[in-house]
Formats: sequence, structure tokens, C-alpha cells
Amino acid sequence: MPGHPVDTLGRPMRDLRVSVTDRCNFRCRYCMPREVFGADYPFLPRSELLTFEEITRLAGIFAGLGVRKVRLTGGEPLLRHDLDRLVAMLAAVPGIEDLTMTTNGALLARHAAALAAAGLHRVTVSLDSLDDATFSAGNDSPVPVAQVLEGIEAAAAAGLTPVKINVVVRRGVNEGEVAALAGRFKGSGHIVRYIEYMDVGHSNGWRLEHVVPAAEVLAAVNAEMPLEALPANYPGEVARRFRYRDGSGEIGVVASVTRPFCGDCTRARLSADGKLFTCLFATSGHDLRALVRGEATDADIAAALTAVWQARADRYSEIRSADTLGLPKVEMSYIGG
Ligand code: SAM
Ligand code: SF4
Ligand code: SF4
Repeated sequence: MPGHPVDTLGRPMRDLRVSVTDRCNFRCRYCMPREVFGADYPFLPRSELLTFEEITRLAGIFAGLGVRKVRLTGGEPLLRHDLDRLVAMLAAVPGIEDLTMTTNGALLARHAAALAAAGLHRVTVSLDSLDDATFSAGNDSPVPVAQVLEGIEAAAAAGLTPVKINVVVRRGVNEGEVAALAGRFKGSGHIVRYIEYMDVGHSNGWRLEHVVPAAEVLAAVNAEMPLEALPANYPGEVARRFRYRDGSGEIGVVASVTRPFCGDCTRARLSADGKLFTCLFATSGHDLRALVRGEATDADIAAALTAVWQARADRYSEIRSADTLGLPKVEMSYIGG
């Protein structure tokens, strides 16, 4: 029975995010801009993706090391054929108490019931705007907002609740819609979560002035619909929670830029081709696919995961924020650039 490793900063491994595909039916400007992810982009061939069996085996090993929560993501997870089969396999893994998915929602209406039946617990749906023109300009797709709203309602009807709605707020793009988005879902039982725009990857041309601080988002909502703070659901919850004073629901803010939470970061990430990343901003991963496709036993893989986790020192967002506040600059070699 393996122990539960902690990293160099004392953080355990609690959550696993599994990317099931690197493909997407959207081309969000801040994530997969079409100039970079065009028709000739070399997406992973099928043979390089982890199979459902390989993902499930790894999830079981992660669970043995302390992981309790698994989130399916991507790319767009609903582009992976038969995803409900993977959900059923993961739902049967001992130790996994929370099984969720993040999706852009475009295909959710047709899959929600099957996913719920297979054992998915909840979904998070990304929706940055209620205005078709802003929405389509942001994700470079013809999908109307109504199609995502249908997906959200189908998820709620299937019991994938509470549905969380991720809104990445960007200066000059959708900042004016913050209160309208809250108002649209107030009283529905769905939880809008505003995410600060982060400098992930290299292709989105991120600049600090594009970030709308969570404090500003809260002020905008509070001005129209008064809020009060709620305690965290569990230690290390990344979203700070607030409820409407009239009792009609709650919202959250994820202040990854202005109030980073690396100290509580218990997340491991598994890429679609089986690389383990210990930080969203890591520049290289550890190849687990080679292990699962080789001779390694579960105990060998657990030992490899333990060694990686015990060496983990990632705290990119804290370092970046210290940097942007004018504190001493940290060398790229330190953050693993
Ligand atoms: N395709 C799915 C979706 O959009 O929900 C799942 C993958 S997507 C990468 C996961 C989440 O990351 C989405 O809510 C998206 O808005 C968010 N995201 C992507 N790029 C981001 C950035 N630069 N800053 C903050 N959030 C970002
Ligand atoms: Fe696709 Fe999600 Fe990235 Fe948008 S945020 S491009 S929907 S993976
Ligand atoms: Fe975790 Fe890295 Fe994000 Fe910090 S920057 S919260 S270590 S993923």
C-alpha cells in the first residue's frame, strides 16, 4: 500500500486533471488562436493518445497516492468518442470521490444524460459572453450562445449539479457583461465563476493590462446584486465563494493572477499523450505513457509518480505576482523556463 506523498512545499496530491484530447471545436483567441491552431496544425495522432484503459489504470494509481478528485478536460473533452465509457470506467475506480468535466458546452446537450448515467458527478461549462457576436468573436466559431445554454440546462436536468459556469474576464472584451452573466444565472442553482485571464502558453499574447482583477468583478456584481462572503467548501478550494444576500445563489472568483493560491495547489495534470505536468505553467512533463506501455508494474509507476511529486516545487503564479508587484525578479532557470 503506497503512502500519500507530499511535495517540497508540503502539498499533497489530491486532484487529477485528465486531458482526453488536444483537439477542440472552438478556437478561443486566448487558448487556441486559429493562426497557430490552423488546418495544418499537427494534433496528436490517435495512437499517441492514452486509451481509456491506460487512463483508468493511471487514475487508479493516482488514487492510491491520494487523488480523490478527477476532472476530464482538454481540448474539448466531448470530442473524444464514447467519453461516457471512460466515465463509467473512472467512476468504478476506488478512492475517486468526485468525477467532473470541463467543457465548452457546444456538444453537451446531446451527451449530458449518458454522461450522468455513466457516473459523472458534475460539469463546468465555459461561457464568456451572452452576446452572440462577442461569443463568436471570442471563440472563432459559429456556435450560438443558445446552444451552450441548452447544454447547461441538459446537464442540470441530468443531475450534473450544481453546474458551474466559467467566465474568463478580459479587459475590453467581456468586462462589461460581468453583472449580466451573474444576473442570467441568479436563482437557477448554477454557479458562475469568474476566472482571471492567465498567461498560459505562448500563443495568446497575454498582457497584464488584459486582466480584470477579481476584486473589480466582485464590485461590479455587488453593485447590482449585493453579495456576502462564504467560507471555502474545503481547504485549498481555488474559487473564493460569495452568496447573494437575498439568498438566490452563489458565485465564485478565481483570482489566479492577483491572489495566487500555489500554496494550496494539489493538482496534477495528465496530458492527452500521457505526460504528467505538476503545474499549469510547466514547460515539460514526465512521460507516463512510456511506463504504461512498457513493462512497468503499478508499483513501479506509483514509485515514479511519488518521486516526481516529492520533487515538486512549482509556484509559478506566486512568483509571477511577486514579479509584477516589482519584487526581485526570479530567473527563468528557477521557474524551469
Ligand atoms: N474546452 C473546454 C472548455 O473550454 O471548457 C475545456 C478545456 S479549457 C482549456 C478549460 C478552461 O480553461 C476554460 O474554462 C477556459 O475558459 C479556461 N482558459 C483557457 N485559457 C485561459 C486563460 N488564458 N486564462 C484563464 N482561463 C483560461
Ligand atoms: Fe477549446 Fe476550451 Fe481552449 Fe476554448 S478554452 S479553445 S473551448 S479548449
Ligand atoms: Fe498550481 Fe502552478 Fe497554478 Fe501555482 S501556478 S496554482 S503551482 S498550477
